[in-house]
Amino acid sequence: MSENILDYLKENRNKNLSELYDFLKIPSVSTDSEFKDDVKRAGEYVYNYLDKIGFSNLEVIETKGHPIIYAEYMEAGIDAPTVLLYGHYDVQPADPYEEWLSDPFNPEERNNRIYARGASDDKGQVFMHLAVFEAFMKTEGKLPLNVKVCIEGEEEVGSENLYKYLNENKEKFAADFTVISDSGMVAEGQPTILYGLKGFTGLEIEVTGPSQDLHSGIYGGAVKNPAMALAQLLATMKNEDEYITVDGFYEDVEDLTENERELIKSVEGEDYLETTGAIETASEKGYTAKEHTMARPTFEVNGIYGGYQGEGTKTIIPSTATAKITCRIVPNQDPKKIQDLLEQHIEKHKPKGVNVKVKKEKLSAKAYKVEPTDELITRAAKSYQKAFEKEAVFVRMGGSIPVVEWLDDLYKHPIVLLGFGTPEDRLHSPNESFPLSSFDLGMETIVHYWNTFK
Ligand SMILES: [Zn+2]
Repeated sequence: MSENILDYLKENRNKNLSELYDFLKIPSVSTDSEFKDDVKRAGEYVYNYLDKIGFSNLEVIETKGHPIIYAEYMEAGIDAPTVLLYGHYDVQPADPYEEWLSDPFNPEERNNRIYARGASDDKGQVFMHLAVFEAFMKTEGKLPLNVKVCIEGEEEVGSENLYKYLNENKEKFAADFTVISDSGMVAEGQPTILYGLKGFTGLEIEVTGPSQDLHSGIYGGAVKNPAMALAQLLATMKNEDEYITVDGFYEDVEDLTENERELIKSVEGEDYLETTGAIETASEKGYTAKEHTMARPTFEVNGIYGGYQGEGTKTIIPSTATAKITCRIVPNQDPKKIQDLLEQHIEKHKPKGVNVKVKKEKLSAKAYKVEPTDELITRAAKSYQKAFEKEAVFVRMGGSIPVVEWLDDLYKHPIVLLGFGTPEDRLHSPNESFPLSSFDLGMETIVHYWNTFK
């Protein structure tokens, strides 16, 4: 049962907090070479902790950048499942320092929160897992399942070396599922199952006409205006119903089931008019704004430029006009295929009298989704509920978490995002914090979750 373990965590709360603070005091800023030794020290902290509580096959995996900490516990036996626990011990820079109300690298408790860089993202949440493993070991002498731990030091700089290493050592990290605590809940005290993320892809359209900007009095009426041509082309790509009119764009999009629509409806979403200042919401016909942002693909013009941008008028026909476009895509859509479809559409609809060039964006990601009815997810929901005494809500996010999408693509096994952050945590900003309630109830959730594998 969980009682002994929970009691242990209660009795050792002060010890745990002070050990977490030791971890948070290390300025493991991965992007700044000045902190290289500190980043290393934070990795060693994780290594030593895992070593102390009885993990084996520990490794500090050196990379071109910062090391990856690996450890495993395989004593639950071959019949027990194996989980890959991913997290990161590096943090964002703390600047601007003067905006912090307390030292970013000297944790302080105020307003029932822990204030420090990394308190929420992600050292605080990594530490909770370490402390829970320790509590199991100290009270039961074992863990209910096999565990492989992978805590990296380069998440905040793109995880490139982790990708490379995992690709070359796929078997080593192979598991039945992955657990990541590096995300948040929709509100403090409101357990949240994040079961889907969007992917993205993009391109740039450059329209060129005359070889230089022209006098609009002399040449207006004689040549095509590239800025106008670009506007006409863009207008063929999405209609007034917010529907993307590119052939085949929706081909692989799975329908939103009634069950999912119910789940989305049950989440108390934000008031879009209030938070955005827009005068009206605009979503794909047949879908609410929440449904569209969470579960339907989008097409956005991120920037458009060309011609005269200065004060007053300048009567020219610009020689070029450019638009940058990105799409947030949903599960089953392939980013490369979407780029190809967009390119074909542009080729087919390009206005006469101008040249149109497409530059495909190299960076792209597939969407991620785990079925909300997957047993690993329902167990997580129940574990949250037990700890927080509140039913979990299920959400999909319009954003992307590259590591999740990448692990999903590599291992094709369920990824459980067991996050405990809150919207007020100020990740990456001054005064980052993490609620003590998330610290306590989050660990309790993790205890319940591991115990479902007994
Ligand atoms: Zn993070």
